[in-house]
Amino acid sequence: MTLPRGFKAKAEREALRLRNELGLRDTDALKVEALAEHLGVKVVSADRLIDRTRLEDLERVQAYAFSAATFQINNQSYVVTNPLRAPERQTSDVAHELSHIMLGHDLTEVREVNGMPFRTCRPDEEEQATAFGGTILLPRTLLLDAARRKLNPEQIAAQYGVTDEMARFRYNTTGVAKQQVRGSRTTNTWGAKA
Ligand SMILES: [Zn+2]
Repeated sequence: MTLPRGFKAKAEREALRLRNELGLRDTDALKVEALAEHLGVKVVSADRLIDRTRLEDLERVQAYAFSAATFQINNQSYVVTNPLRAPERQTSDVAHELSHIMLGHDLTEVREVNGMPFRTCRPDEEEQATAFGGTILLPRTLLLDAARRKLNPEQIAAQYGVTDEMARFRYNTTGVAKQQVRGSRTTNTWGAKA
C-alpha cells in the first residue's frame, strides 16, 4: 500500500498550518485535545460510556482490537479513546482519528468484536490517517529542530509526549536521521580543516 502522490508533502504543510491556527510555533508540541477542540470534535474516554470491566474483557478477547473510534451523532463528531492505553498511545490514537475526520474519510462502516461495534476503514485510508496523524504530532520541521538540538528519538518521544515507536518511525522516515549523519560529517570535515 502506498500513499497518494504528494500526500506526505501536503501532510507536512497541513501540520504546520494547523499549528499556526492553534497559535503554536512549528516546533511546539501539539496537544491533541486542543486540536480536537479547534476542529469541534469531542474526545470521550470509553469508560464514561461503558463499564471499564467490559473494556478489559474485550482486551482479553482481542488485544488491541479497540484503540480509538470516531462516531458522528447529530453532526457532532466524537472520538472515543481507550483508557487502558498509555497516554502517549492515546495521543497517537486521537491524532489518527482526527486525521480520518480531516481527510474526510467515510465513517460509516461498522463491524462487531465481542458484541461491541467498531468502525472499519479501508486499508488505504488507514495508512493515510496513520501517516497524517504522525505528521501532525511530529512535523519534519520540528524533527529537524530536535535533531539539531541533538535529541534522539527516545528523547523526542519524551519531550513531545508521543510513543517511542512514533518518534523512531517519524525520525527514520522523514530523512531527518540521514540529514543528521550528513550534518555531523560536514562538521567533522570543517573541524579537520581548522
Ligand atoms: Zn483508522
